[in-house]
Parts: sequence; structure tokens; C-alpha cells
Amino acid sequence: MDCIFCKIIHGDIPNYTVYEDDYALAFLDIHPLVKGHTVVIPKVHAKILLDLSNEIVCDFFVDVKHVMELVENVFHPDGFTVGWNHGEAGGQVVPHLHVHILPRWDNDGGGNIHSIINNPGELSVEDIAKLF
Ligand code: AMP
Ligand code: ZN
Repeated sequence: MDCIFCKIIHGDIPNYTVYEDDYALAFLDIHPLVKGHTVVIPKVHAKILLDLSNEIVCDFFVDVKHVMELVENVFHPDGFTVGWNHGEAGGQVVPHLHVHILPRWDNDGGGNIHSIINNPGELSVEDIAKLF
């Protein structure tokens, strides 16, 4: 498969590995947004979270937590922003699920999840709730 992250898993493309086990590989982002910017990917190819079985999701997110602990121990950040871009509209460029772990520091100049978009549309929250 022509997937850059699968090639990293298979060792065809080098990476700076932070952690690896049967379920996940974590490596330093090649274009870090902040010191210690790390991405965690599942070992099985899946573009989006919805493509993974619940069993794999559980193992994968235990590893995401573990990688956060590793980054915490190295950099002692004041906090984290953690998330992933889902689909092209969500900003996903590499079509293999990857969770971004961004260590954060007080007054580091970065934004938070509220700065991603501010375009709530016309429907009220009450109307939206009725759709469920
Ligand atoms: P996105 O798909 O927008 O969530 O982001 C893809 C991320 O993968 C970007 O932050 C890239 O810097 C990173 N990336 C792409 N290729 C590599 C690579 N070979 N090694 C490490 N990180 C990479
Ligand atoms: Zn892949």
C-alpha cells in the first residue's frame, strides 16, 4: 500500500521512534509545531478512527496515554493538546490515523481547540439536539 506511515511501520522510511509495541508506533513529527511534538499511529492501516475495531481502539488509546506519560517525563510540560485531524475537511493530510501529542507550556503562544473553527451555523443548540 502506498501509505507513508505504513512505510514507516515497515521500516522503509526512517523515523525518530519514541515508543513501539504490537499495537502502535509513536515517533517525532518531522515538522514539529512545538518541542516534543509526537504522533502515535496504529500498526494496522486505517484512515480514520471509525475504521478500527473497538478492541484495537482500546489497545491503541492505552498506548496514546503511555506516550503522553513518556513525553511528560522527558519535557515536563504544563499541559497537552492532543487530537487528530479526521478526513480532508478536518485537515487530515496523511491518510493513516495519527494522534498528535503536543506538549504545552504556560504562555507558549499557542491556541486551544476553540481556535480551530468558529462557524456554528444557523440552527440553535436545541434544534441540533433534536436531530439525535
Ligand atoms: P495531518 O495529516 O495534517 O494530521 O498531519 C500529518 C503530520 O505528519 C504532519 O504533522 C507531518 O509533519 C507529519 N509527517 C509527515 N511525514 C512524516 C514523516 N516521514 N515523519 C514524521 N512525521 C511526518
Ligand atoms: Zn497506512
